[in-house]
Amino acid sequence: MEIKAILGDITKQADVEAIVNAANESLLGGGGVDGAIHRAAGPDLVKECRTLGGCRTGDAKITSSYDLPCKYVIHTVGPIYYGGKSGEEEKLSSCYRRSLEVALEKGIRSVAFSSISTGVYGYPLDKASKTGVDTVFDFVSKHPSSFDLIEWVCFDGLTLKYYEEQINDHGRSALRGL
Ligand code: ADP
Repeated sequence: MEIKAILGDITKQADVEAIVNAANESLLGGGGVDGAIHRAAGPDLVKECRTLGGCRTGDAKITSSYDLPCKYVIHTVGPIYYGGKSGEEEKLSSCYRRSLEVALEKGIRSVAFSSISTGVYGYPLDKASKTGVDTVFDFVSKHPSSFDLIEWVCFDGLTLKYYEEQINDHGRSALRGL
């Protein structure tokens, strides 16, 4: 399997079965990547989201993708960063874990994450990328042979640099046999 980070627009990813949206608790759309996903998916996405009754911070829910090129959208709600002493790390880690659990339940083998919480929610990129990458490596090591590709689709070069660095820290050899 492969774990990587790329530069791009997550709404254009056609080589993954699911993309992960950095949503808010209402699941009814917002700014940033959430707004871009809803715009690209079309109005039926929010209609399905209305049936879900929102989503707690740290949890994840799945919908169809409508006009997006992938098959599914996994909506997760990252924590707002209040300085790091309000359980942010555990909540962010939970976002990644729950997103992959939901993917696993559906038999989804390829997943593209956005950089959860590092935009409007203010989570420092160094800390968020470490928590995200550590959690994903930990999850795949516990679920060998379950995924073909997990990637971060980064909207800017700085974000890409942080995720790439974290992934390289784990070393590609760690993926052998997964
Ligand atoms: P949050 O509220 O969880 O912080 P944001 O949407 O504000 O979420 O930002 C999360 C990340 O998504 C940021 O790095 C932002 O630059 C990025 N982003 C915004 N639009 C897109 C897009 N179309 N594709 C991929 N990433 C995007």
